[in-house]
Amino acid sequence: MPWQEYKEEGFSAADDRDGDLTDQVERTVLEDRICYQVTDKAGNQTVIYRDIPFDTGYKEATGKDFPEIDIDDPNADGKIVYLTFDDGPGPYTQELLDTLDRYGVQVTFFVTGSFPAYEDMIKKEDAAGNSIGIHTLTHDFERIYSDDKAFWKDIDQMQAIVQKQTGHTTNLMRFAGGSSNTISANYTPGIMTLLTEQAAQKGFQYFDWNISSGDGGTEGDMEMVITRITSQLPNQDTCVVLCHDTKEYTVKAMKYLIPWLLDHGYSIRPLQLDSEPAHHGVQN
Ligand code: ZN
Repeated sequence: MPWQEYKEEGFSAADDRDGDLTDQVERTVLEDRICYQVTDKAGNQTVIYRDIPFDTGYKEATGKDFPEIDIDDPNADGKIVYLTFDDGPGPYTQELLDTLDRYGVQVTFFVTGSFPAYEDMIKKEDAAGNSIGIHTLTHDFERIYSDDKAFWKDIDQMQAIVQKQTGHTTNLMRFAGGSSNTISANYTPGIMTLLTEQAAQKGFQYFDWNISSGDGGTEGDMEMVITRITSQLPNQDTCVVLCHDTKEYTVKAMKYLIPWLLDHGYSIRPLQLDSEPAHHGVQN
């Protein structure tokens, strides 16, 4: 091995006969790796690849250092994290799919009809091995929680879009507002109790979440998404994480959060029918 060591920043190369070869190292940045190549006088070529660290580019993108994450999670290794994305597909979904593809991970999309121009993204999500669940066609609380017939009409219409795009239906769903929402009580007291029972009768599994990225409101940024999610990981045996692919900062945060999770031993998976449903408990 003519080249004894390398490091970034400030790599070096040394050879037992030629001495210091650092000046001759060719450094090439690939998409997710840096390639170092050096050849000694005898023509022996050495190539070493170094993975790009998880926070590469964060500072360039934000002007800030990667958030300090000080968590103690002794069970991190192999812990399952289900990243779930509600309210899309929309303008940022392709960017998210690109990130998922880059790291070879699959997530779950609870889809809506909010952005008809992006409806065909459901097909791409499904084709890439992600799980598709129904969220709601309209996301109109007053309409869907006015009575159970209106609710299931909305769900059936979304199911038809899922079937059209993917060629199959789905048994996964997530209620608008989650099963514990109390907004529905403004329209129909007791409707969540009824709808959760009916969901089971219809063969649906509904999923809530046990970790929130905090991106459901009007304010937020990448740092919030990264710190809120990571700080809650130690509290759960299996993590079901609520995110929205309709938030640009959430989608951008995944470029840094996903490699961080993988780097720390977490296993990112798409929800299946028998996965942890993280039910909140119905309150209406
Ligand atoms: Zn939603």
